[in-house]
Amino acid sequence: MSVSKEELIHAAATYGTPLYVYHAESITRQYQKLMDAFSQLNARFFYAAKALTNLSILRHVRSLGCSIDCSSINEVKLAFKAGFSADQILYTSNSVSFEEIREAVSLGVSVTIDSLSNLEKFAKTYAGSYPVGVRIRPNIMAGGNTKISTGHVGSKFGIPVEQVEALQQLVQAYGLQLRTLHIHTGSEISEAAVFVQGVTLLLELAGLFPSVTVLDLGGGFKVPYRPDEKEIDLAAIAKAVEKSFTDFKNKTDRQLEVWFEPGKYLVAQAGYLLATVTVLKPTDTICFVGVDTGLNHLIRPMFYEAYHSISNLTNAEGAPTTYQITGNICETDDFAQARTLPEVREGDLLAFHTAGAYGFEMSSSYNARVRPAEVLFKDGQPQLIRRRESLDDLLIQQIN
Ligand SMILES: *Cc1c(COP(=O)(O)O)cnc(C)c1O
Repeated sequence: MSVSKEELIHAAATYGTPLYVYHAESITRQYQKLMDAFSQLNARFFYAAKALTNLSILRHVRSLGCSIDCSSINEVKLAFKAGFSADQILYTSNSVSFEEIREAVSLGVSVTIDSLSNLEKFAKTYAGSYPVGVRIRPNIMAGGNTKISTGHVGSKFGIPVEQVEALQQLVQAYGLQLRTLHIHTGSEISEAAVFVQGVTLLLELAGLFPSVTVLDLGGGFKVPYRPDEKEIDLAAIAKAVEKSFTDFKNKTDRQLEVWFEPGKYLVAQAGYLLATVTVLKPTDTICFVGVDTGLNHLIRPMFYEAYHSISNLTNAEGAPTTYQITGNICETDDFAQARTLPEVREGDLLAFHTAGAYGFEMSSSYNARVRPAEVLFKDGQPQLIRRRESLDDLLIQQIN
């Protein structure tokens, strides 16, 4: 289930390129898969909004019954704008000033704190009057590389697990209502074992903190980006997590809730970036394909060495030819090197797949190029959910 080639071509003709296109039903399908897989657990899902914050996307996610995880106070405000209520909003902070945490508390949302320093400020301000979660750095490597792993030794995220005694002292000294233990070990986790490692550690810690009722395992569910990658085995992850929770319940008589914060899993596959081929540049070594977009609109290939499938929508039957696909930014902004596509001609329309997560959201106006428009397909109907930026938009904050 996806947006068809004809619909993509039609959207590009209507709204121009570069263009982000999303598919509401794909988001629905992904949410349903999570719900089904974890139905035996007392589970709640918080969409990690930072993957894609367009209000129309947030509203669609809310309509599914999903809650929301925010990484900044402004994302919290966007969540309210999209209609989420305070009890559906989780604010997971890192390296923020305590003022932001104070504001989140005043808005009544759930708060997860990621340093002993901020937790101490929280304790001095609220003591046990407001429930709180802490993010633990479990010292687990996940997701394969340190650009997308966030739980390893050396990662800035979370309170290092070796500092748990200091955490205990704070909790006891101020009578903190420590409700949630949180980990988010990275993006693109495919192995149940990584979740189990995390759960095992958190359950051990939960033994030290009787007020804990929630384990938040973060996001990081992998989606296939390459054609040869498989779907993750959600059922295996669910089964493993379930077993850990059941064992814990049998031992302690404590029935914990489990929270997840899927970002990519919900929106990555729902998104496409459409671009028009501007220039072909054959050279002795390879033919460069220049497109009317660049790392200003999709930075993942350059930032994470991420792979995105590319299709030639307007010459699907062309002879297979190998190209280097590059952007139009004054940087080396390759989307793909040595990629074989059906013959590409100037004017052809290319689609970058699996671009819904951290695509538009990480875009910039570098080189004074404007950000793309965004379109959401729902019930087969395209709807413009963000107009293309203009030069006036870029100038609006400048004072001359
Ligand atoms: C980014 C992030 C997520 C989502 O990660 P995905 O890989 O997109 O699922 C979840 N929780 C936290 C705390 C994050 O920072």
